Amino acid sequence: MSQTERAADSGLDPAGQGWNNQSMPKLDTASLLELENRYSAHNYHPLNVVLERGEGVWLWDIDGKKYIDFLAAYGAVNQGHNHPRIVAAMAEQSQRLSLTSRAFRNDRFGPFCRKLSELTGYDKALLMNAGAEAVETAIKAMRRWGYQKKGVAADQAQILVFEGNFHGRTTTIVGFSSDEGSRAGFGPFAPGFVPVPYGDADAVAAAMNPNVVGILVEPIQGEGGVIVPPAEFLPRLRALCDEHNALLVCDEIQSGLGRAGAMFAHQLTGIRADGVCIGKALSGGLYPVSAFLADDAVMDVFDPGSHGSTYGGNPLACAVADAAVDVLMDESLIEKSAALGEHMGTRLSAIKSPHIKAVRCVGLWAGIDLHESAGGARKYAEWLQDNGLLCKGTHVHTIRLAPPLTITREQLDDALDLIEKALT
Ligand SMILES: *Cc1c(COP(=O)(O)O)cnc(C)c1O
Repeated sequence: MSQTERAADSGLDPAGQGWNNQSMPKLDTASLLELENRYSAHNYHPLNVVLERGEGVWLWDIDGKKYIDFLAAYGAVNQGHNHPRIVAAMAEQSQRLSLTSRAFRNDRFGPFCRKLSELTGYDKALLMNAGAEAVETAIKAMRRWGYQKKGVAADQAQILVFEGNFHGRTTTIVGFSSDEGSRAGFGPFAPGFVPVPYGDADAVAAAMNPNVVGILVEPIQGEGGVIVPPAEFLPRLRALCDEHNALLVCDEIQSGLGRAGAMFAHQLTGIRADGVCIGKALSGGLYPVSAFLADDAVMDVFDPGSHGSTYGGNPLACAVADAAVDVLMDESLIEKSAALGEHMGTRLSAIKSPHIKAVRCVGLWAGIDLHESAGGARKYAEWLQDNGLLCKGTHVHTIRLAPPLTITREQLDDALDLIEKALT
């Protein structure tokens, strides 16, 4: 077979124009929904909008309708869709070297880990892919540290976790979720996790005992509805960990990298965590990259063979994430999030609506709780969709807002006008 025939056979356009669209007729929204419905598991309940293009804060559906994105893929697209600098890094690296596995070394890994260390102030990074894997890594680190350094008896380690948490979807992680929908039917679950009410430092103090190796906490609960704990909560967790020789690990997968107006949300309370999980915006939405960050005393518990991932720390991931954190810093997106977030908070709090029960806003990240009489968040998300803004509720009665941090003040004001109109 000639190269042209092979290309034609595979559906590739032999003229090098990408996929041959003649053999793939354009489907309408109803047909695409039907395909999803028939050929994919029903593990999500998405809005009925089928997107085909993105640029910066904008998304376009298959009919050419334009939307401003107020979800930013749950905070994975802080840098905006298809940021040209990240796209260029990905294109360039993918043509050179993508995956070697960690059986060999690659030239992007060391420099990127150094960049993360210099940016975040932690000695070392352990790179994974999905956010849930960074959390699993943190759990392993806390437990091994507990056995090796704290002297906890074998298999007795306890990790304190919080009600309303979201840390991902593995069987271990959903085992300590308080959301029945995430847990039901997936047991038996791993022992060793002790749930405590979120924001209740006294309950944490009461749960402390010599077998507690660490506390795993979201500094702000994102999926929980952008829940901000009392100001003294994280400082008290820090003090309790110091007092009881336990590790404080912050899951900053959604709250970190600028979303809350700081590199890490926990820094807003003036504390330093012993370990940090990051993911989502670490790669600006182009590729899954996550990491667990810690100092040597914690990270040194990992020895060869104790942990890993085939794709973890691959050169393509490193090149993409390297460019994504450069964009975050060079475009001052963290400072922008803080400044525009204050504006967003002021405007949201000023909305006079019989439907609003409470508004929380930290950086460019807001949760709007609606009264039950308002009829659920999805109704408002659908009205906003019809009017050119995409967002998604969390739980039943909370609207969550999280635009890309590249949004301009004018774009933000236009979107807030629309949100105000939706709610009044
Ligand atoms: C999204 C999220 C995760 C899980 O990340 P995945 O990439 O979906 O596995 C973990 N923790 C928090 C706080 C998150 O928001």
